[in-house]
Amino acid sequence: MSPSAPLAIYLHIPFCAHRCAYCDFNTYAGQEAFIPAYVNALRDEILYLGQAAARLSDDQTIGTLFFGGGTPSLLSPPQLASVMEALRSAFSLAPHLEVTLEVNPGTVSLEYLQRTRALGVNRLSYGVQSARPRELRLLERSHTFFDVIQAVKWARQAGFDNLNLDLIYGLPEQTLADWQISLQCALDLRPEHLSLYALTLEHGTPFGHWAARGLLPLPDPDLAADMYEWAGEYLAANGYLQYEISNWAKADPWMCRHNLQYWRALPYLGLGAGAHGYAHGVRYSNVLRIETYIERLTSLPAGHTPYPFPLTPAVVNHHRQSLQDDMSEFMLNGLRLTREGVAPETFRARFGRDLRDIFGREIEELTRLGLLEWAEIQTSEVLRLTARGRLLGNQVFLRFV
Ligand code: SF4
Repeated sequence: MSPSAPLAIYLHIPFCAHRCAYCDFNTYAGQEAFIPAYVNALRDEILYLGQAAARLSDDQTIGTLFFGGGTPSLLSPPQLASVMEALRSAFSLAPHLEVTLEVNPGTVSLEYLQRTRALGVNRLSYGVQSARPRELRLLERSHTFFDVIQAVKWARQAGFDNLNLDLIYGLPEQTLADWQISLQCALDLRPEHLSLYALTLEHGTPFGHWAARGLLPLPDPDLAADMYEWAGEYLAANGYLQYEISNWAKADPWMCRHNLQYWRALPYLGLGAGAHGYAHGVRYSNVLRIETYIERLTSLPAGHTPYPFPLTPAVVNHHRQSLQDDMSEFMLNGLRLTREGVAPETFRARFGRDLRDIFGREIEELTRLGLLEWAEIQTSEVLRLTARGRLLGNQVFLRFV
């Protein structure tokens, strides 16, 4: 079943000046020479999808755009302008479009931010990660916290009133006091939004190898849980609303609408190398390598029969979701939303089934364990994670797979 809601578009920019030791995103260092050809291929993919969408009878208005990476701020303003121009010509964009650009502090100037703001970007997400020099060096980030302060000041001068800062906790040798200092420094910058992530050790990254060989002195899981709990209390005391396991906003209008689309299991298109999408009941992923992506989009054979929406020549995997897949993903994503959770009413409207008939046993078991609870929000009943459930989210989600 494919719900009718405005679409979200994610655009992946897989270039970084340097590959950080903990990162497992689809991104490449030293490939900047491909950026112009990549931008052209991205435009081709946008136009291809726009034409396919136009052949459908239902409304395909776009509600949010998200430039993620990699380092999207490596695109010059003219390159961003050319992507925005393709999007405007291929799709109908909603009047209150949210446009997010992920930015590495230290790679932007006041002039760059002014030009991106003029192009319609209205939300910035800064990869801050830490305010502690030792931790930034360990993560192999090229910026300092001074760069962050400067970049935030310039963002405000350029007219941005929707700013997210990303931070990571649970770092090697990080103490609770280190984490408290980083979070306090971030709060001093008065961001509208904060995303706090626990360090995850990904297989195949240098951090993953070092940890496997016992070379990374990681904090124990109890200390990482203390960091998370302290952050939740400190942010609540400072007026931030937690609305997702790892996300806080000053108030509802500053929640990330693009990410809410994922957590509400609503359709989105993923464009660019390695991007994923889900629309019209089809889940798909694009080819990972930059050169192959460019080649696939720029050398279409003559007389090529267009793929049905949402597929393009860049897609390497796709499958039609079963009703069971959709219902499971609705639970996995929706339970991440710590305030709104999952409403039986929405479940019924979406799937025509009763939530308790489908997942009654799992819900009963997880509420008995104190990981899920029933709550009332504006007279509606919702199922959501308890405070303990937020710490053990993965164990809860697994029960719905
Ligand atoms: S800047 Fe971000 S995307 Fe790029 S390598 Fe570092 S962590 Fe990964």
